[in-house]
Amino acid sequence: MKKMLIAGNWKMNMTTTESVKLIQNIIEGIKNKKLLTDILICPPFTSIDAVSKVLKDTKILYGAQNCHFESKGAYTGEISIPMLKELGCKFIIIGHSERRTYFFENDELINKKARAVLALGLSPIICIGETLREREENRTFDVLKRQIEIGMSRIEPENCAQIVIAYEPVWAIGTGISAEPEQVQEAHAFIKGELVRVLGKRASSIIVLYGGSVTDENAKSILELTDVHGGLIGGASLKSDIFLSIIETANSILEK
Ligand code: PEP
Repeated sequence: MKKMLIAGNWKMNMTTTESVKLIQNIIEGIKNKKLLTDILICPPFTSIDAVSKVLKDTKILYGAQNCHFESKGAYTGEISIPMLKELGCKFIIIGHSERRTYFFENDELINKKARAVLALGLSPIICIGETLREREENRTFDVLKRQIEIGMSRIEPENCAQIVIAYEPVWAIGTGISAEPEQVQEAHAFIKGELVRVLGKRASSIIVLYGGSVTDENAKSILELTDVHGGLIGGASLKSDIFLSIIETANSILEK
């Protein structure tokens, strides 16, 4: 049966008070529903503790949006994986395009972070995707190949079950312009093939999410694609009714 993960990336939004309200609304919305899809929330660091307390006794998972690769040390302003693990985080988003663009993260750094996350038994959600310019120059597959080759280097095949990949074309993030279903399916099939080429057969079970302007309106056409196993949702995860509707869509696809 197809597995699905609907992950909300709240980015730098929501104070702790706002986070608690939002998560309470989401819990209320799924109350008494049979959930077939996994749900993950990645609030800002400052809200993780409060959100985790509200999520106690629910099936909703929570995680973080970034981490440092070192476990501790003189890295002012950074957050380590043990700190997040102690808070109960199970997933950490790594290499989001906003971190690549605004904080100059490259594939080597992202690989270091991913290996550190795996070493501590958590799941990295490794974000990859081409810019508009790279797509226009027909370099999409070269970029994805490079991001996978470097991003997965020195990762052991036995870690495959822990890894999540998010295909997020940079031109589709926060722009309101989602990739067309054919573009998404084509990229996901390529990514899955590359993962198997680099990591071996076990990589065929790696969950590949799509991210980039997913809304309640386009969720069905994307989530029902063969090689899409869920979504990484930014803007639409900040509104409980829209996020709940995306969850409902994922659930109904899995019910078929
Ligand atoms: C994201 O933050 O990963 C994302 C895909 O954002 P949005 O859904 O707003 O495009």
